[in-house]
Amino acid sequence: MPVLPAVLRPGAPMASLSRALRVAAARPRQSPTRGLGPCNLSSASGPTAEKSVPYQRTLKEGQGTSVVAQGPSRPLPSTANVVVIGGGSLGCQTLYHLAKLGMSGAVLLERERLTSGTTWHTAGLLWQLRPSDVEVELLAHTRRVVSRELEEETGLHTGWIQNGGLFIASNRQRLDEYKRLMSLGKAYGVESHVLSPAETKTLYPLMNVDDLYGTLYVPHDGTMDPAGTCSTLARAASARGAQVIENCPVTGIRVWTDDFGVRRVAGVETQHGSIQTPCVVNCAGVWASAVGRMAGVKVPLVAMHHAYVVTERIEGIQNMPNVRDHDASVYLRLQGDALSVGGYEANPIFWEEVSDKFAFGLFDLDWEVFTQHIEGAINRVPVLEKTGIKSTVCGPESFTPDHKPLMGEAPEVRGFFLGCGFNSAGMMLGGGCGQELAHWIIHGRPEKDMHGYDIRRFHHSLTDHPRWIRERSHESYAKNYSVVFPHDEPLAGRNMRRDPLHEELLGQGCVFQERHGWERPGWFHPQGPAPVLEYDYYGAYGSRAHEDYAYRRLLADEYTFDFPPHHDTEASAEQSQDKVTGGSWASGPVWAPPRDKQREPEPRGLWPGVCLLFLLLQSGQARLVTWDSWQPVAPAWGPGSHVQGVEIKKECLACRGAAAVFDMSYFGKFYLVGLDARKAADWLFSADVSRPPGSTVYTCMLNCRGGTESDLTVSRLAPSHQASPLAPAFEGDGYYLAVGGAMAQHNWSHITTVLQDQKFRCRLIDNSEDLGMVSIQGPASRAILQEVLDADLSNKAFPFSTHKLLRAAGHLVRAIRLSFVGELGWELHIPKASCVPVYRAVMAAGAKHGLVNAGYRAIDSLSTEKGYRHWHADLRPDDSPLEAGLAFTCKLKSPVPFLGREALEQQRAAGLRRRLVCFTVEDKVPMFGLEAIWRNGQVVGHVRRADFGFAIDKTIAYGYIHDPSGGPVSRDFVKSGDYALERMGVTYGAQAHLKSPFDPDNKRVKGTY
Ligand SMILES: Cc1cc2nc3c(=O)[nH]c(=O)nc-3n(C[C@H](O)[C@H](O)[C@H](O)COP(=O)(O)OP(=O)(O)OC[C@H]3O[C@@H](n4cnc5c(N)ncnc54)[C@H](O)[C@@H]3O)c2cc1C
Repeated sequence: MPVLPAVLRPGAPMASLSRALRVAAARPRQSPTRGLGPCNLSSASGPTAEKSVPYQRTLKEGQGTSVVAQGPSRPLPSTANVVVIGGGSLGCQTLYHLAKLGMSGAVLLERERLTSGTTWHTAGLLWQLRPSDVEVELLAHTRRVVSRELEEETGLHTGWIQNGGLFIASNRQRLDEYKRLMSLGKAYGVESHVLSPAETKTLYPLMNVDDLYGTLYVPHDGTMDPAGTCSTLARAASARGAQVIENCPVTGIRVWTDDFGVRRVAGVETQHGSIQTPCVVNCAGVWASAVGRMAGVKVPLVAMHHAYVVTERIEGIQNMPNVRDHDASVYLRLQGDALSVGGYEANPIFWEEVSDKFAFGLFDLDWEVFTQHIEGAINRVPVLEKTGIKSTVCGPESFTPDHKPLMGEAPEVRGFFLGCGFNSAGMMLGGGCGQELAHWIIHGRPEKDMHGYDIRRFHHSLTDHPRWIRERSHESYAKNYSVVFPHDEPLAGRNMRRDPLHEELLGQGCVFQERHGWERPGWFHPQGPAPVLEYDYYGAYGSRAHEDYAYRRLLADEYTFDFPPHHDTEASAEQSQDKVTGGSWASGPVWAPPRDKQREPEPRGLWPGVCLLFLLLQSGQARLVTWDSWQPVAPAWGPGSHVQGVEIKKECLACRGAAAVFDMSYFGKFYLVGLDARKAADWLFSADVSRPPGSTVYTCMLNCRGGTESDLTVSRLAPSHQASPLAPAFEGDGYYLAVGGAMAQHNWSHITTVLQDQKFRCRLIDNSEDLGMVSIQGPASRAILQEVLDADLSNKAFPFSTHKLLRAAGHLVRAIRLSFVGELGWELHIPKASCVPVYRAVMAAGAKHGLVNAGYRAIDSLSTEKGYRHWHADLRPDDSPLEAGLAFTCKLKSPVPFLGREALEQQRAAGLRRRLVCFTVEDKVPMFGLEAIWRNGQVVGHVRRADFGFAIDKTIAYGYIHDPSGGPVSRDFVKSGDYALERMGVTYGAQAHLKSPFDPDNKRVKGTY
């Protein structure tokens, strides 16, 4: 631990924030060797003495100190239907929701006492608006539980305080982001107001508003009390029959292997006996990795120090809302008549050796790290400069590679569920996530689309990769308060999986995106290679930040809610505003800061102010940082450092007018083969895939509620006795499955779970790494490929939705006639070693036809234009194919049973209550999703996915709409409405389409131009 300045040591006279800053700035720098590497950037020390935490009550009061030695608080049952491990926010919420959903025999085992891990010292803030519709729903549920339902059920007040929340915007992009949140909030009934600086001052008189662009005020935000919440949850769960057992650490998890070789949970062990159970839920917070290891389950999280300080009394602060100043990376939480000040640093401290003795413990605050927040806090509420610090609260918290929790059934062991990795949001997400976990355990799947939290969003090769976990968790932590721009990419943990064409495409200017560990082409940049470099921790921990980093510059140019520069739509959003509808300025013009404040910083990357302050501290030059002063230290981030031109538009229009080649090698490529493969295929796939060998079918896979777990293509294989990457040897039936690469693990786990549950005798084989895939699409694709492939490619000889094994430039490949973009085209699935020669042959043949390289940004735009769905955007586990306009993928006219069929039939009989609708907007206005959908003056949904369509020259958006009166959403209902889309408080007239706005009769995929 660093040596603290004398005034800041525990027990030393009270420090004020300004004093802390001055002392830290004046101190000589810590050893410059405090650089990269596990030991140097982390704390391996154990807990320090417990400090006073500013809550009225903690559960430990009156119970003495360590109680584990006393033994369990009640006798252990010999069996349980489910054992929840850990009694923090997540454990208590999960137990409560399990009991509420009717699960009997649910037991919670807590090592020490409830809340003793991280929960007891949480700041407890709950903000209702986040840039995700699912998260808005999860947060709403937590709020409902703590503010109303628990009290109604138990008569106890949980300690919920509704003092409101205020988000601060110091630049235009930030205010834009808040306006996006406001529009989304309208779809969910979350009241919010965009306030001008003057209005903000009226609301919060102690606030400095001189440097503000505006704020977002959410009156029903508030603060949760951890002890009150957890004790009430435990009491309510117990009243419903669940058991809470404290002072009982789980020391082992028993796993057995069934006749099919599947590992399953059998029970938990403790020093005081064991409990037989088929299901455990790992809610062990920073100890979750250790609990996972007990069962051979990988839990990709890191433990870090996370802190806030509590000030002395501040006159006039009572009843103020909580504040999140994202640009300064700090939050100010109302604490009675004082404030708690915390935030996210660029150089958080890792807790390497998580101690299992740590209970109700805190670390000494590292002021060198924490000082980063002080400047921003004092700037926002200047009275803080002269306010003393009453106590410091620095505790452990778990952080994950993408700053999202880890939930769901572990791929390694059936019956082992995760409910951990909450990234300093485990209080506010606890209720929503507890409810979803309970659904998951009881019904096999959650109710909402939880893919973003599902452990299966990560490829299994990453979840025990220490460098990847550490780098990504660091970047996600430090970026937590950054504006969430639509086209951002991580810089940490890159180059984990590279396909056979990687080097070839890099040399041609490919700008890669990261998905599922893969580097996949995003778009092509004509000015040469922009490789993704080794992670530099943005200069933190004494590492050297990359200078002149081309890839990072390209990303930074896209930090906008306008059209990215290379979109070139020849219009800007500002030119096309028509009317203002939202916020507190409903009737007035959109406010802009005075001229002299329009010197807004262009976003140059992450939490720039914080980053810079940190760099200055590292170099011993801490001083007040202004936008002017930080610019020189980051020259490579200047906007307009190069001009990107019109690349994505060019790629799209080349595909529509000539041909484009897409490297889609990151796709998941599986074989489903064996004696029961046909039965399995009938049950798994919503479409009839049992057509003759040589056919390819686009289909969905559903869950039992009729929600869409996946969309994919399935190609029936001819029997084969000789194994090759292009076809395994198998008996019975065989299918080749091509699934979106980012969803490969999800698909794999879904299929294996179904095969296990149904006891089908077949094998699922993963050939993703052995095969590459290029897709050649566009009117010229046939002419190009005819020169490369040794087969007749005419419509008659090679119809749409069929596949063949052929030779391409002498190499054996599987050619599938399919399209993701709505053009004539073929996919070539190619053994790894043949990818480069085949790709080069295609490029050579295509040169005279205008063939271009294109990436996923073009696919996004082209597929939006054509109306092809994207799984996890406009097609999710909470959407049925009927609602999504994919009834054609469901074999409902055949008598063949399939997973989800009954739910679809019920839905069809009752009439659809929501429907996916395509909208086009005449104005060239950038939209990215989350915009509110208005129909006849009422909000009826929000946009899930949007892009610009270059061929139709319009903005296109997709969203599900419902009838506010609760009735069915018929086609007539859709057609009869007057629509507008609201983006950042401004509405734009929109036209609804039930068919794709581009080539609605699907002529092009059939080769008719
Ligand atoms: C300084 C700070 C401020 C924060 N502010 C906020 C905020 O404003 N809003 C918000 O939503 N979140 C906030 N958080 C985050 C939030 O507090 C956590 O995400 C949440 O408390 C985590 O709850 P949990 O149940 O996952 O973990 P924990 O509370 O750590 O619970 C895990 C439990 O598992 C028990 N356990 C471990 N191993 C075993 C075993 N082998 N057997 C039995 N039991 C075991 C532990 O004793 C512990 O009680 C903050 C966190 C910190 C550190």
